Amino acid sequence: MPSAYRYLFGPVPSRRLGRSLGIDVTPFKTCSFDCVFCQCGCTTRLVMEREELVPIEEICAEIEQWLKEDGKADCITFAGSGEPTLYSRLGELIDFIKARTALPVIVLSNGSLLHRIAVRDELLKADIVKVSLSAWDDASFKMINRPVPGLSFEQLLAGQRDFRNVFAGKLWIEVFLLDGINAAPEQVKKIAAVAAEIRPDKIHLNTSVRPPAEAAARPVAKEKLEALCALFSPQAEVIASFTADAGSAAGLNVEKLIDLIRRHPSTAGQLAGSFGVTPATIIPLLSDPRLQIEVRGGETYYKCR
Ligand code: SF4
Repeated sequence: MPSAYRYLFGPVPSRRLGRSLGIDVTPFKTCSFDCVFCQCGCTTRLVMEREELVPIEEICAEIEQWLKEDGKADCITFAGSGEPTLYSRLGELIDFIKARTALPVIVLSNGSLLHRIAVRDELLKADIVKVSLSAWDDASFKMINRPVPGLSFEQLLAGQRDFRNVFAGKLWIEVFLLDGINAAPEQVKKIAAVAAEIRPDKIHLNTSVRPPAEAAARPVAKEKLEALCALFSPQAEVIASFTADAGSAAGLNVEKLIDLIRRHPSTAGQLAGSFGVTPATIIPLLSDPRLQIEVRGGETYYKCR
């Protein structure tokens, strides 16, 4: 049976947010960055122009259906196959959700469009906005995030600082550290100095535990990440592995599994946690020919071909 949803996925066990219903408003893979560590793979549409990338009526209909038939999650998160602020009607979608549920709305963004007032105004409606910051100057920005031509690091920072000045919700920063690229203490100190200018409520350190776009984006060991936390103010937290509560096994099928894996390459254990079942229930579904495995850090990840 095909998945009921085209734009909704999960709820997924998020390291930051609990069980999070994902909304993916960007067709694969539309982004203003082409990060070397991206778990979705390389960007195929590198853009800064905002558009109604998919019809808003279709997304709203899926949200209505999910709220009516399930509605169980800790939050609703805009995330997925690209940069959600490229969706030109994002503010309207947040209004639509807020009018129907008290679940917190989170936007996971790379922060690249926050220098535009219209984008800042739309994100003011969210409860939590998480932006990424993994560089400290223009050269490192271009090497790690590979942004759309013309977007400078100063523009990125100015947008994030301006947003902080007007946003009353929680602003989090995720710093993605990669061994041999941006994780030396001198480099991390520079990232921490830039992050402090944005005055975030929280800082999370992440690394490429899932298969990244480029094989050279090697993960940083957990102990090393933990030691780097103290360089940030507020002190950073390493995003720990997450095990979801049981509860969403109903309706599990291979299409739902593939929907999730397309956006989040995952181990059998992570998938079991997401759906609230044992790995033994998941494993037979993982032989689907649309999936392939990649071994990373001793763990077997399933990803789409
Ligand atoms: S990690 Fe996020 S910002 Fe970077 S390319 Fe992937 S979707 Fe875009």
